[in-house]
Amino acid sequence: MGINISKAIDLHLHLDGAISLKSARELARLQQISIPESDEELTMMMRVSPDCTNLNEFLEKFEFPCSLLQTEIGIETAMFNLCEELSDRDLAYAEVRFAPSKCCDKGLTQGQVVRAAVKGMKRSKMNCRLILCCMRGDNDTVNKETIQVAKQFIADGVVGVDLAGAEALYPTKWYEDLFKLARELDIPFTIHAGEAAGAESILAAIDMGARRIGHGTHSMENPEVIEKLANRQIPVEMCPTSNLQTHAIENIEDLPLRKFIEAGILVTINTDDPTIEGTTIYDEWQKVIETFNLTDAEIRQLRTNSIKASFLSDEEKKKLQKELENYIQTIN
Ligand SMILES: [Zn+2]
Repeated sequence: MGINISKAIDLHLHLDGAISLKSARELARLQQISIPESDEELTMMMRVSPDCTNLNEFLEKFEFPCSLLQTEIGIETAMFNLCEELSDRDLAYAEVRFAPSKCCDKGLTQGQVVRAAVKGMKRSKMNCRLILCCMRGDNDTVNKETIQVAKQFIADGVVGVDLAGAEALYPTKWYEDLFKLARELDIPFTIHAGEAAGAESILAAIDMGARRIGHGTHSMENPEVIEKLANRQIPVEMCPTSNLQTHAIENIEDLPLRKFIEAGILVTINTDDPTIEGTTIYDEWQKVIETFNLTDAEIRQLRTNSIKASFLSDEEKKKLQKELENYIQTIN
């Protein structure tokens, strides 16, 4: 392979799905939370079981990591540790997302939660930004507060909002009003859509003004979706292993990657929840390169797609593009 796939970009990465064992131990110690001493037992608590049958079951795995994110020091440290680990793995850029509303069990406000996460992120040298998740199933007031907090931090580490959670139970179209607020406040947003629900969910997200689509796995069910994603250049955040584990697809070959490329859609490769899934961004790349026999030109295209799809400013995108071009030249 001519192109080395280090310096990857991950645009779809959940903080609570990415807490390493080492970080979990530190967070537990800092907050006097007791956790299993053996790595094997801890891994079982944090990783999805091989017989997971759907997204709802997969989502249960977030309960434990979320319990480590209920104090300012816990959130700051978790974010700092993740950024340092991404930097150690030589990622060029990442957008890390999480739901501040899920970190308020011990009385923190969403604003305090996000302030702590931003602080942890800024302590690290990693080129990273935050996306705040609204949650399917949370009440409207809580989700609207997430959007208001995003507005407060938009020039200060936060670059957008998202809608996450049980898509099959809470249809995308129910959140029209919520994303109207995001549009009014000029906050870019991505929506998890077409993962546990069909193409209609993606259409709803596009119609609501989503700047990106999380997963979009079921796009191929409806030609209108493909046409809209391609014509409006709405990027898709593909997460291969996650899709297998939540049974959005049954085989890796079922990922619509080549179809997306052929249709001219800005598809990107991401991890979703590396700890829960037991994966890394490089494992994800390896999987798609092997499954779809990607050429060097296609790998380059996918990397460029990630830069274009990011919620960075045009100037920051150019800088990142330059950094990666220089990198490719030096290794060739
Ligand atoms: Zn996700």
